[in-house]
Amino acid sequence: MLILNEEKYAKSLYDGENKDIKSIMSKIRYITRYLVHSEQSIDDAYQETVRWLKKYHNNFDESSYSNVISDAINAAPKYPFYIIDKIQVTQSELNIISSLDNLRAEKILFVLLCMAKQQRMSNGFTNGLVKYSITDLCKFARVSVPADDREYILYEIVKMGLLGYPKKNNTQCLIVNFINTDEVVLELDESDCQELAYVYLNWKNGGKGYAKCQRCGRWMKQSKTKTKKYCEYCAKIVQNEQKRLWAEKNRKNLTQQND
Ligand SMILES: [Zn+2]
Repeated sequence: MLILNEEKYAKSLYDGENKDIKSIMSKIRYITRYLVHSEQSIDDAYQETVRWLKKYHNNFDESSYSNVISDAINAAPKYPFYIIDKIQVTQSELNIISSLDNLRAEKILFVLLCMAKQQRMSNGFTNGLVKYSITDLCKFARVSVPADDREYILYEIVKMGLLGYPKKNNTQCLIVNFINTDEVVLELDESDCQELAYVYLNWKNGGKGYAKCQRCGRWMKQSKTKTKKYCEYCAKIVQNEQKRLWAEKNRKNLTQQND
């Protein structure tokens, strides 16, 4: 997912959510920044980071990370959280993407465009520069193809002139060449940024076949036979809650009968 409100993201990580972050270094950076920016003293921030890691990171060993945590706390004031209101996508940008006429390439290009717009605000990048990893890119775009084919899809788009390589040869970066300022058609918020591929497909299909989860707002594919209200994750939570209520009701009925 693309993060729009980094402060909210760090807070939910702190509260034990955001299971997608696996790297201990990322965890340490977010948690220390969160604690320092919520005005904890250096000592408190250190203790609290250790407590958090013991709770939420498997086999955490304090002695191996004490310097890393202290360094992260010292560096934290230099990295305020960014908050991006929304990402806007325009008509001409969407026209260019859909003109590729190849769903995989279209989804990848749409994700790269959104990433470039997000990084302009989060990293201060200019001229469509976008930093990416091919694994994340394909994950966000919901494209599953063998590793070699992924690079090939990108290369085909580069050949058409819609993507370019930066002058300084950096294999982790591309340049999105078609960012425009005409009529805004899509305004993406945080929940849209969790499922960029579906946002694009929903637009392309004229608003058919996709829906937002009524609990968390995440986009999902609509099934053809039965209208889904919740995403898989929320469906389980709602189902458990219903079971719990049902059991409670039964228990009450039983006690009343025994009275
Ligand atoms: Zn949901």
